[in-house]
Amino acid sequence: MIYDLMIIGAGPAGMTAALYGARAGRSVLLFEAEAPGGQILNSPKIENYPALPQTDGYTFSENLRQQLPQDLVTVVSEKVTQISRCNGLFCAHTGNEIYSGRKLILATGLKHRKLGVPGEESLLGKGVSFCATCDGMFFRKKEVAVLGGGNTAVQDALYLAEICSRVYLIHRRAELRAEQWLVDRMRENEKITFIGETVVEEMCGAPLLQALKLQNTVTKETRELPVSGVFEAIGLVPQHEMFGDLITTDKDGYILTDERCAAATPGVYAAGDCRAKTVRQLTTATADGTVAALAAVEDLRREGL
Ligand code: NAP
Repeated sequence: MIYDLMIIGAGPAGMTAALYGARAGRSVLLFEAEAPGGQILNSPKIENYPALPQTDGYTFSENLRQQLPQDLVTVVSEKVTQISRCNGLFCAHTGNEIYSGRKLILATGLKHRKLGVPGEESLLGKGVSFCATCDGMFFRKKEVAVLGGGNTAVQDALYLAEICSRVYLIHRRAELRAEQWLVDRMRENEKITFIGETVVEEMCGAPLLQALKLQNTVTKETRELPVSGVFEAIGLVPQHEMFGDLITTDKDGYILTDERCAAATPGVYAAGDCRAKTVRQLTTATADGTVAALAAVEDLRREGL
């Protein structure tokens, strides 16, 4: 079967693109290697999506997934490892199959940035985590640390403070970049201790994490902070090595597109956090999905397909 649209990534951008593609009567193949939802699945609270005063990432994703017309959208739980051109179509290679489609929408989102310090790799899943909502309960009534100074780090610290006995928020600078209302909530929370101007030099313990080796960036003093868990929230980076020369990227690896979300190769579009842009929010991800799908549908129509 040849699909009109192949969409890689079923986060808010990819699922919205699938919704708009299907509502235009097009057949859609939607790839998702993990659970549909992407990053937003881990958000315990969403309070900034218009007309949805309060929801959570899981409910948001599940509602969007259920909104997809099942007769036109096929969801494949496989990881796309390579895209090639084949007879004027795009071919998506997974370990098991090769799928073909006329237009390609890349909505691959971002992956977690790692700190890259000794002990991090060997302690992954043994105290080192990238997801507070997934793993927080393992550290009930224990002391944990969160790394980073953005919205995710502060939200994670607030969430963990409901479960853990103490939460240390460790940030390399004195000022947090998180939104002020989150910072205010954090400062009011007695279970959260902010440790600014500090970097983690090593994660220590075997087989489980026992402590972080910290260095103050001003005084250069080092010390050990005993914790059972550390949650890294130091940002996200794009992931699209598999798309080769179908795309061009900016210096940070984000996919360059025009206002229609069209990428360097005709027939390829990018939507959501993987796209080069200034604002990465849930609202802009779903907006991108809309724009990319409608552009792809318009291009199919122009080509008489
Ligand atoms: P982010 O805003 O990029 O923040 C990453 C944090 O990690 C920054 O404080 C940064 O420090 C720090 N960092 C980066 N590399 C580091 C390193 N090598 N060592 C130590 N610290 C490092 O990432 P995010 O918090 O995951 O948020 C991503 C996007 O999602 C943002 O646009 C954010 O607004 C959005 N978001 C929104 C919500 C919401 O509810 N509205 C919730 C979560 C996320 P510096 O500050 O020094 O650069």
